[in-house]
Amino acid sequence: MEETWDREVICEICRVQLSRAAIAKSLTGLDLSVLEQPKRLININLAVRMDNGKVRFFPAYRVLYNDARGPGKGGIRFHPNVHMEEIKELAFLMALKCACTDIPFGGAKGGVKVDPKKHSEHEMERISRAYIREFAHFIGPDTDIPAPDVNTNSTTMAWMLNEYEKIVGHSAPAVITGKPLELGGSQGRDYSTSLGGAIVLREYLAKKKSGLKKASIAVQGFGNVGMHMARILFEWGAKIVAVSDSSTGIFDSGGINVKKAIEHKATGKSFETFPKGKKISNEELLELKVDVLIPAAVEDQVNDSNKDNIQAKTILEMANGPVTPTADDLLDRKGVEIIPDILANSGGVMVSYFEWVQNRNGKYWEEKEVNAMLEEKMVKAFNEVHALKEEEKINYRKAAYVLAIKRILKAEELRGNLSKPSK
Ligand code: GLU
Repeated sequence: MEETWDREVICEICRVQLSRAAIAKSLTGLDLSVLEQPKRLININLAVRMDNGKVRFFPAYRVLYNDARGPGKGGIRFHPNVHMEEIKELAFLMALKCACTDIPFGGAKGGVKVDPKKHSEHEMERISRAYIREFAHFIGPDTDIPAPDVNTNSTTMAWMLNEYEKIVGHSAPAVITGKPLELGGSQGRDYSTSLGGAIVLREYLAKKKSGLKKASIAVQGFGNVGMHMARILFEWGAKIVAVSDSSTGIFDSGGINVKKAIEHKATGKSFETFPKGKKISNEELLELKVDVLIPAAVEDQVNDSNKDNIQAKTILEMANGPVTPTADDLLDRKGVEIIPDILANSGGVMVSYFEWVQNRNGKYWEEKEVNAMLEEKMVKAFNEVHALKEEEKINYRKAAYVLAIKRILKAEELRGNLSKPSK
């Protein structure tokens, strides 16, 4: 057969994930090849002047993976390990995430290879603005809509919006989500990823006939997602036995007072100096015997080196791609249930969608309205994935993938982009 794609464009990990999902009977015979490659890849070197007057170059990326169901959607991350293959995979996950939870967007992702810890705020502002100057013609409210991701936040989005509006010459709040409230951000967006994940976990535990109050939980990562996740679950009565930041973890079998942990971090200190609990490493946290392990940092945390030591009964993936495919297979065989990222952490992009709708309509919702809509959509998405899991006798990840893939392929088919089955 003639190959119609370029080997360098194809996303290997996406292809692996697709072939794993394709064992489900409802995907058999469908043309999955349309999903093995991203629609658009852009890689630009940003030239940015540092505070010392010297110019430095930062590789920057934006991938629009699929836009059959709507404009591309996905965050921009700042991290020293950012590279094209990673951004491709994350853009693929965004396409699946939006489809799985029935958000009318496609999938995209962006990133800059930079270590924010090594730069002043002014340098980070210049990097953010440079990103938009270079990518302005590839993003837009109807084409591709960025948002925060690892190491970016509402301040970053404000700089980016401002730069974009200068370029296009008019107000355009719907070009980017996760903005500060004053610039058209949505109520609740700062903790929506975590609230969405907490709702999914609550529904999952209810199906298991156990409750949040009985669960012991370890949360890896104390950035925006991990911190709010631990906070919400603590407020809902769960026992958070471990939390960690990028350098240290704390463990207390009796439960950590998450409010105190947040206050401690707010003073700029690491968990190293937290007065309560036992100090543990991030690696040890992942291997704790808990009811629920919540990786909420970066990808590939549960991998070949620690997969045999994982003792959690359930993993709720709040980071994107925290469990590698081989670890996923082993844990599945061992009976560990994994609620996949494309469902578990979709609350963020869900409220990003609400933000975009508000920006376009010019009507803004109260926090409780946003949260009520989030609740309804997350419960619906969980129930749809759960029903498919039961019906096809597959695990949660496969069910979420199958649901998402079918929706994307339906949109591709309606657009005339799929080969007709041969007669
Ligand atoms: N970065 C978040 C994610 O990975 C949010 C993306 C968005 O709101 O567009 O889901």
